[in-house]
Amino acid sequence: MPFRFDAVIVGGGGAGLYAALELARHRDLRIAVLSKLHPLRSHTGAAQGGIGAALGHAEEDRVEWHIFDTVKGGDYLTDQDAVEILCTEVIDIVYELERLGMPFDRAPDGRIEQRIRAGGHTRNFGERPLARTCYAADRTGQMILYTLYQQCVRHGVQFFDEFQVVDLLMEDGRCAGAAAWDIRRGGVHTFPAKAVLLATGGWGYMYKVTTNAVSLTGDGVAIAWRHGIPLEDMEFYQFHPTGIYKLGVLLSEASRGEGVHLVNGQGERFMERYAPVMKELAPRDMVSRCIWREIREGRGAGSNRDCVFLDFRHLSEALRRTKLPEVMELIRAYLGLDPGHDLIPVQPTAHYAVGGISTDVWGRVVIDERNTPLPGLYAAGECACVSVHGANRLGTNSLVDILVFGRRAGRDMARYEREDDPPPKAPPRSRGEEEIDRLLAGDGTESAARVRENLRQVMQDHVSVFRTEAGLRRALESIYELKERYARVGLRDRGQTFNQDLLEAWETGCLLDVAEVTTVSALARTESRGAHYREDYPQRDDANWLKHTLLYRTGDRDHQVRFKPVAMGRFLPRERTY
Ligand SMILES: Cc1cc2nc3c(=O)[nH]c(=O)nc-3n(C[C@H](O)[C@H](O)[C@H](O)COP(=O)(O)OP(=O)(O)OC[C@H]3O[C@@H](n4cnc5c(N)ncnc54)[C@H](O)[C@@H]3O)c2cc1C
Repeated sequence: MPFRFDAVIVGGGGAGLYAALELARHRDLRIAVLSKLHPLRSHTGAAQGGIGAALGHAEEDRVEWHIFDTVKGGDYLTDQDAVEILCTEVIDIVYELERLGMPFDRAPDGRIEQRIRAGGHTRNFGERPLARTCYAADRTGQMILYTLYQQCVRHGVQFFDEFQVVDLLMEDGRCAGAAAWDIRRGGVHTFPAKAVLLATGGWGYMYKVTTNAVSLTGDGVAIAWRHGIPLEDMEFYQFHPTGIYKLGVLLSEASRGEGVHLVNGQGERFMERYAPVMKELAPRDMVSRCIWREIREGRGAGSNRDCVFLDFRHLSEALRRTKLPEVMELIRAYLGLDPGHDLIPVQPTAHYAVGGISTDVWGRVVIDERNTPLPGLYAAGECACVSVHGANRLGTNSLVDILVFGRRAGRDMARYEREDDPPPKAPPRSRGEEEIDRLLAGDGTESAARVRENLRQVMQDHVSVFRTEAGLRRALESIYELKERYARVGLRDRGQTFNQDLLEAWETGCLLDVAEVTTVSALARTESRGAHYREDYPQRDDANWLKHTLLYRTGDRDHQVRFKPVAMGRFLPRERTY
C-alpha cells in the first residue's frame, strides 16, 4: 500500500531529525521519517564527547582556527568551502538548539560551558590544545535526539518507527520515493515522495571490534551504490584510539580532554614522544597508529602485551563523577574496574565512516566529479561525504556535520518542493522488494550470521589501521567468496512479524557491498593519508593523490574508479605534526 508524502527522511538520528524539523517549518508539507529503530535509539544518542563550535566562552577562539584544525586534521583532503560552512553555521546551530530546549552544561556566568578539549582542536593554528566543546555532561548526543524529536512531534512530522527501508524508487534518473519493510507487521510498502533524504548513519559493524551499534550496517550507502550512485573516499575508515580492550566499546575522547593519560606497558606516557605539543589530544588517526606501534614494538600492556592503558588516577573524584559519569559507568559495567585505582586497558576500535554518498553543500546527492545533482535525492550525516572530514575526522566534528548539513538538506528539500515540476511517478515494485522475496523464499543452507562474522574478521585483519596490497587483495578475494555464500543463505524464520532473521540477512548483504567498496578504494589509493595507512606506501603523496576517490558500480565485481578535485582554500598542504 503506498503512503504518499512530499518528503521522506530515511533515518531518525541527528541528521534526519534536523532535516525533518527544518522541513516541518513549512506547514503545508507532509513529512515522514522512516526509521528501523525508534529515533531516540539512533546511534547519535551514544555520542558522549560533544559539539565543537568556536563560541569562545572558555577562552579566545575564532572560526578560522576551527577551519584550520578541521582541514589539517583531515590531512588536507577536506573541501575547504564546505569546512567554512561547517565551522561558521555550527555557531548559530548551537544557539538554536539552546533555544529549542537543549540542556547544555553552563559556566558560572550562565553561558554554555566549553571547558572540554578534544583531539586536534587548537588555538592560533596549532599553538596548543583549546577548549571548544559544547556538551550536556557526557550525554550530548542523547540530548540532541530528545530536543529535536520533541520539536518534530510538535511540528507534526509523521514517524514510521520500525520501518526498514530496503530500496529507493527511481524513475527517469530522478528519485521518486522509498520502499520499506514493515518490521512489526511484515510486507513492503512504498512511500512515493518528491524528495528523499538518506540519513542512515555509519557502518562500523563491518569490523569485529567496533564502537558502533549492531544496527550500523550501511543500508543507505549500499542502496545508493546498487543504483549506480558513486561513493566517495570510502577507503578512509576511522579507528578511535580508546575502545575497551577486546570489546571495542568507546571510552569517549572527553576523558583525554579532561586530562587522562595514555601509558604503555612500561608505564611511559608514550604520546609525548610522537606528538610533543598535543600529546593524547593529537588526532585519532595518529593516536591509533601510535598505539599499534607501541604494541608491535613490544611495549604493549596487559598479560598479552596487546593493549595500552588509560590512566584516570590523577583526576579528582569529583571531576570523574561530574564530567565523565557515563565513562565511569561503562568501565564499571564492562570491566568491573575502578578508574580511581586501576589502569584501564584499551585498544583502537572501528568508529567512524569518513567517506560515503557524495553530496554537495546542500546535501544533494551528486553523480559525478562536476557535482551534477541527482534530482530528488539527498544524503546527510555519517552516511554522506560532503567532504568536511577529508581523510580523517576530528573529535566533536561529526555532531557538527550532522546538525549543519542535516539542517541544510532540510532547507534545500523545502526549496525543491516549491519547484514547479510535479513529482515523478513511482514504480510500483523495487529491486529491494525482490531481494526480500528472494530471501524469504530461498531454500539455501548457508547462515547469514556466519557470513557476517567471517566478513567482520576479514575486515578487522586486513582493512584496518595498517594496510598492504597483499592484505587488501586477500580481503577482496574473501569478500567475493562470502558473496557467493551469501547467495545461498537460507532463513530459519519465514514469518512476517519481527523477523530479525530476515533483516539481519538483508543487512549482511549491505555490509558485503560496503566492505567491497572500502577495500577496492583502499587498493586504489597508493599513498598514506589520514585514516588510510598503506605500509607499502607510507608517505602522503600530494602530487598524485590530493584528490577524492569516486567509486562506481559497473557490474558484479566490476568498478570504475574516478577522481574528484579537492576544493582547496587558503590552507595549503603542509607537514602534519602535532
Ligand atoms: C559510541 C559513539 C560515540 C560518539 N561520540 C561522538 C561525539 O562525542 N561527538 C561527535 O561529534 N561524534 C560522535 N560520534 C559519531 C556520531 O555520533 C555519529 O557519526 C552521528 O551521530 C551519526 O548521526 P546520523 O544522524 O548520521 O546517524 P545515526 O544517529 O546513526 O542514525 C541513523 C538512523 O538511520 C536509521 N536507519 C539505518 N538504516 C535504516 C534503514 N535501512 N531503514 C530505515 N532506517 C534506517 C536508524 O534507525 C537511525 O535512526 C560517536 C559515535 C559513536 C558510535
